[in-house]
Amino acid sequence: MTLRNTPPTAELQALDAAHHMHPFTANTALGKKGARIITHAEGVRLTDSDGAELIDGMAGLWCVNIGYGRHELAEAAARQMRELPYYNTFFQTTHVPALQLAAKLAELAPGDLNHVFFAGSGSEANDTNIRMVRQYWALKGQPERRTIIARHNGYHGSTMGGGSLGGMAGMHAQGGLPIPGIVHIDQPYWYGEGGDMTPADFGLARARQLEEKIIELGAENVAAFIAEPVQGAGGVIIPPETYWPEIQRIVDKYGILLIADEVITGFGRTGYWFGSQSYGIRPHIMTIAKGLSSGYQPIGGSIICDEVAQTIGQDEFNHGYTYSGHPVAAAVALENLRILQEEDIIDRVRTHTAPHLAQAWGSLADHPLVGEAVSRGMMASLALTPDKASRARFAADAGTVGYICREYSFGNNLVMRHVGDRMIIAPPLVISAADIDELVIRAR
Ligand code: PLP
Repeated sequence: MTLRNTPPTAELQALDAAHHMHPFTANTALGKKGARIITHAEGVRLTDSDGAELIDGMAGLWCVNIGYGRHELAEAAARQMRELPYYNTFFQTTHVPALQLAAKLAELAPGDLNHVFFAGSGSEANDTNIRMVRQYWALKGQPERRTIIARHNGYHGSTMGGGSLGGMAGMHAQGGLPIPGIVHIDQPYWYGEGGDMTPADFGLARARQLEEKIIELGAENVAAFIAEPVQGAGGVIIPPETYWPEIQRIVDKYGILLIADEVITGFGRTGYWFGSQSYGIRPHIMTIAKGLSSGYQPIGGSIICDEVAQTIGQDEFNHGYTYSGHPVAAAVALENLRILQEEDIIDRVRTHTAPHLAQAWGSLADHPLVGEAVSRGMMASLALTPDKASRARFAADAGTVGYICREYSFGNNLVMRHVGDRMIIAPPLVISAADIDELVIRAR
């Protein structure tokens, strides 16, 4: 393919190396090699500056749920920019896209999750959650309830708050994370950490760590527990079926708030609108971002239950972002939700493409290096192992899996990621069965 108006790749790479600091990247090494430059995209396929076509097995960063090239979203943005490009929702004003989006989210979210506080990203929304749950308990007359329990290897963003809630050792090693008042329990990762236990027993044991931690801290000091229904950035770690019912029992017993971080699992990724519905859990707060706008605009937020929202509303909540509920982002998100709903994209995932992915992806389990090949909805992972019988693990820092993943699948024009000893995908929800087959061929 000939690309018009695109300078030669080497020229672009030199500019990139000279001036652009990439997130989560050793920039010096990347600069020498040269970043791959993506210039445009359609459906589930990306095109780079040399004209090569890649299958985007990661939907960008788990966000392009409706796929690339939906002009309706571009038109919604342009319309909103002409009408009202910006106004804030602070200080007793509002605007139509923000209020309509809040109402739509209240309609889609389960139970009494009826109130929305907007942010610009998932990280910001989790920062909001930290402040909101502590303020909730302060207003309830229990200001000592400040500690938030999270999980090792969870991911909740990259700000001081989000990175502290997350349990990523590499992030905690830099820049003074975690902030005080956040503690971590272990993740429900049976393949890697379950030893001789059955998945069911292991799921219960890991959930019961929450109870043990609450007792150790004193329930009167605990504000909330936060977790992703399925850990995404931690390696698409699908909890044993016993895990979430036990967590729900414990949260109910001790009366602590449950925050479901739905930044990845929201908006259809698990075959339901929200991952919480897929596991039958009842969070008080859900964190949202990514699939909310299919990544076409940066927007995130928290969907909050009646009790928490009404309590917070009793006093001025001294918190907010210039771009909370940005009108262009909100208009684009509304159009994205319309498409997800009217085109039955989520039902199709649940009834057709997720079962197809489970079967096609599952076939990778016979590869000599693959210990498990699992999926839930439209997210899937492989555990690589040097010895299937013992479920032995490659050292996470040895680089082996990263090397296989980057050099091999990228060479095959498939975007997938590695996390420690796992390789992961989360393609756009609109991927066809034929493209799933092609993706699996390229991954093999
Ligand atoms: N929470 C989860 C579960 C995520 O996966 C992410 C990002 O990957 C975030 C929060 C942070 O979102 P953002 O990168 O939009 O700040």
